[in-house]
Amino acid sequence: MTNEECMKVALEEAEQSVREGQAPFAVVVTDPEGNIAWKDHDRVKEFMDPTAHGEINAIRYLCKKLNTLSLKGYTFYTTSEPCPTCMTGMIKAQVSKNVYGAKTESTASLPLSATMIASYSKKYPIQVIGDVLADECLAQRNRLLGL
Ligand SMILES: [Zn+2]
Repeated sequence: MTNEECMKVALEEAEQSVREGQAPFAVVVTDPEGNIAWKDHDRVKEFMDPTAHGEINAIRYLCKKLNTLSLKGYTFYTTSEPCPTCMTGMIKAQVSKNVYGAKTESTASLPLSATMIASYSKKYPIQVIGDVLADECLAQRNRLLGL
């Protein structure tokens, strides 16, 4: 699947997130062969946990399911640029790549860029590719957040 195809699946997952009463932030994870391994989304209100972002939920689920602490070779597709909590989580989980849609610097509670955080990761390098379907992702986020 192409980056754009995976991002479209993430956009669908963000719609599902809002249908479930959560924030419009979704993640699609592909395995080293490029197949979708998991989809998830924001569950902050569901879990009453401010850190229950889609990426963190996916890391917890996949590491437990695969009985591993390393998601090396995996790619996380996120509709919005990951927050610092999620970027750090992905680095700790040794995720190889993050592909995101819309930047979040204007609305984030802690606006640090994913690329900047990734640049500090020497032990577990992570590639960051932004602006994939950025217009669609930004339009969806603004619509679902009522902005
Ligand atoms: Zn996050």
